[in-house]
Amino acid sequence: MKIEYKTPEELKLLTNKTRPETIAFLKKLKKKKPKKLDDVVHEMHYEAFNNFDCLDCANCCKTIGPRLTGKDIERLAKHLKMKIADFMEQYIRTDEDSDFVFKDHPCPFLLPDNYCIVYESRPKACREYPHTDRKRFYQILDLSHKNCETCPVVLEVIDELKTKNW
Ligand code: SF4
Ligand code: SF4
Repeated sequence: MKIEYKTPEELKLLTNKTRPETIAFLKKLKKKKPKKLDDVVHEMHYEAFNNFDCLDCANCCKTIGPRLTGKDIERLAKHLKMKIADFMEQYIRTDEDSDFVFKDHPCPFLLPDNYCIVYESRPKACREYPHTDRKRFYQILDLSHKNCETCPVVLEVIDELKTKNW
């Protein structure tokens, strides 16, 4: 069922509304680790992306931003024709877990029309978000619950999962 929301705040409210029920469901799923979970989630991932256009959303780029690897930083600096040291100075900080992240939100490379100016060179974490097409989905159930607050695709996938007989 398509998630209806207008603002990122509404997505948070929807996630909060079902929080206790979702925690209980995910706990059960974690215990069972159903073999068919990945196949079912991947199918739901593609169905959900038929309902949502990232260019109408960009919540992830506006509110959370990726963790960057050394390779991401090299690739982005090259894309922008900048020296790595200058790129680091301008765009990167180290967070409380000692990970490299962008200094600002929304992401400095997000355009007003939600296009990404470094799309071909975007960080690995941006390519992989929201992780609903990855293998061993049971390993990221808690993270996915957190991601429901940001991404309507994840909220839709988790809601659909609850309707299945596990
Ligand atoms: S939050 Fe989800 S739907 Fe929105 S832009 Fe990011 S990946 Fe796409
Ligand atoms: S690099 Fe591009 S895809 Fe990644 S957060 Fe920034 S705008 Fe979004």
